[in-house]
Amino acid sequence: MADIIKLLPDHVANQIAAGEVVQRPASVVKELLENAIDAGACTIKLIIKDGGKILIQVVDDGMGMSATDARLSFERHATSKIQKAEDLFNLNTKGFRGEALASIAAIAHVEMQTKPESEELGTHLKIEGSKIIFQEASVTPKGTSMAVKNLFFNIPARRNFLKSNQVELRHITDEFHRVALAHPTIAFHFYNNGSELFNLPSDNYRKRIVNIFGSRTNQKLVPVEEETPIVVIKGFITKPEFAKKSRGEQFFFINNRFIKSPYLHHAVVAAFEGLIKSDSYPGYFLYLEVDPASIDINIHPTKTEIKFDDEHSLYAILRSTVKHSLGQFNVAPALDFEHDPNLQTPYDFKNKSVIQPKVTVNSGFNPFQEVKNTTSAPRNYQKPNTQSWESLYVGLESKMGSNEDSGSISFESDTITGSIFEGEKETTEAVTTTFQIRRKYIVTTIKSGMVVIDQSRAHQRVLYEKFLKNSTVKQAVSQQLLFPLNLSFSKSEISALQEIEDILISIGFIFEKIEGESITVTGVPLLVAESEVGMILDQLISDYQQEVTEESFSHTDILSKTLAKTLAVKTGETLDNASQIALVNDLFACKEAMVSPFNKPVYITITENDIDKKFI
Ligand code: ADP
Ligand code: MG
Repeated sequence: MADIIKLLPDHVANQIAAGEVVQRPASVVKELLENAIDAGACTIKLIIKDGGKILIQVVDDGMGMSATDARLSFERHATSKIQKAEDLFNLNTKGFRGEALASIAAIAHVEMQTKPESEELGTHLKIEGSKIIFQEASVTPKGTSMAVKNLFFNIPARRNFLKSNQVELRHITDEFHRVALAHPTIAFHFYNNGSELFNLPSDNYRKRIVNIFGSRTNQKLVPVEEETPIVVIKGFITKPEFAKKSRGEQFFFINNRFIKSPYLHHAVVAAFEGLIKSDSYPGYFLYLEVDPASIDINIHPTKTEIKFDDEHSLYAILRSTVKHSLGQFNVAPALDFEHDPNLQTPYDFKNKSVIQPKVTVNSGFNPFQEVKNTTSAPRNYQKPNTQSWESLYVGLESKMGSNEDSGSISFESDTITGSIFEGEKETTEAVTTTFQIRRKYIVTTIKSGMVVIDQSRAHQRVLYEKFLKNSTVKQAVSQQLLFPLNLSFSKSEISALQEIEDILISIGFIFEKIEGESITVTGVPLLVAESEVGMILDQLISDYQQEVTEESFSHTDILSKTLAKTLAVKTGETLDNASQIALVNDLFACKEAMVSPFNKPVYITITENDIDKKFI
């Protein structure tokens, strides 16, 4: 039999290899940006036309290439980054396979201009489908410009497989984000079809994140920092209340290289346990530094996975580091380096004292009554002088343990008639003794034993009913802002905002304008601090967008829930004694003290009998 095995011509081999490296325009963007970074660039320009199908160009001011290197760089396995096998275990560069340029040149029209600083003249080189069209000396600035045109021009099947320009641009933008986040000290410019999408100056990590994701991101970030012999962790997580239902802003970088790691993702999510809903994801931007010898990135050229020597330790360290940061943030907001003094829990009795004088001039003043007033009903409830809001609760009472009493609950009253005191009509005194345990529960005694209250859910219930009531009596209580507040949103957020404008006004917001991509707020509901307005509106919009399709009480209901959730004290917050007492009394003045606005139990009772049983 005749010999039938032949060596593939280079251009065919290159085309096959190209399939591995280049799946879509975004893969080219990644390779070119990484080459520019490896070349030590300070400023990198990315120029895209039609989702990268027509043009992908990267211009850098890095070290450039000599005429010979310029030609060699398009050969397969041509690289300046490793010389011997051992180098593989000590990589400090992005690339090392010497495959990218050869692959790209095999399936596109490539034009390169490059010049090292030391040389007078640079090189201009054109290559199409692995064929050199020309190479000549040229006048060009220091650095390299690489233009990749007509991607997959010679593989129509692959070209047809590409998605719309918009989708391809999304992939490119994702890739751009990853590279730009990993290298904040490098300046980036990104142009799409002639208009500038990003202009990122050289900056620190925090500012780079904010420059990419918008100024509103700044207030969401909690710093993370830890140094151990195995790993150095730096970066940011987003505060639990900004957790999103959709995945999005989750970034791990190992030695400044973006990676995906479901395992490490799990470690972060585990640290957030109990602080966010199970169907939401925290955002994070975490930069891990490890010994390059302890990882293997040589799994696949396009994969972003990575193998670690000591995964388990890394997991444990990451989880506890994130937990620690969350703890610091929750427990001691004053330590948060960008803490805003306005961001305080509404249970601040320093503020309550302003309502005192009103009571002291009361001619029918009864000192005993007054003592009860200050402890049991310090919150400034609106008189439920219209009956309309009562209708909102129709049908809700049946969920309560006791119906007979519910009609007699009065927000004005300083007596406690909630179902918890059922059958103990003599217990009309307000609660006066409480304990907080684990900064999570408030415990108080009742005749039959004790009651354990989830502080966050209790406060949600109190605030929820308050907002619901405010909106339905059409007497929203607003506080005027000293200076109008300008906030910017995306176009889709603005249109959502316009849809719920009426409800927001009924809750107490006052808007001067809502148009284009910005709004002006001149008044906010009571209890809402000015510094929180952006964050709250954000939450309101996203909840409205998420839940608008779901069956729900009403839009007012959704928004009241969101406001309550956002403003309620959280697990982990220390409440002083007066605040605990006020909260408990407010709770049992609620229509439906037993369940949170999200249908979770607010408190449990433990009777003397239950306790006795434990002692048998
Ligand atoms: P790798 O990056 O894996 O080495 P590439 O095919 O991406 O392989 O690049 C081949 C070589 O071309 C690189 O090793 C580098 O020496 C040179 N090179 C590529 N892009 C640039 C650039 N923008 N500036 C300077 N040199 C570059
Ligand atoms: Mg490369």
